Amino acid sequence: MCFYDQHQMSCGDYKWSHFRQHCSKEYRTGETCGMKLVMNTIQKDNKCKTCTKIDVKHGRLRKEEDRIERWYKEEQRGHQRGASIDASKETISKLWEEINDLQWERSQAQMQTR
Ligand SMILES: [Zn+2]
Repeated sequence: MCFYDQHQMSCGDYKWSHFRQHCSKEYRTGETCGMKLVMNTIQKDNKCKTCTKIDVKHGRLRKEEDRIERWYKEEQRGHQRGASIDASKETISKLWEEINDLQWERSQAQMQTR
């Protein structure tokens, strides 16, 4: 078991940081073993990488939804927007897929650090 610092991110996730100390078992070899133990927990103001990515994708989702809403209104005024709306809907479903993947990644990371 070796000691590491750990960052607690503002989203509530934990992230391993700098290596601090070998455990007695690995001290002589100078190598780190697979087991990580927490030396210090440092509070961070920012979210973890995965949550930041999820936020960005949610932002893009909102933008697409705004665009669709605008196009619907334009259609009501007689403009052809069907192709744009379809393309945007496709983008939205792709974004949801990506968000699902990231959320899965996030849950995997939580299992590793707790
Ligand atoms: Zn996070």
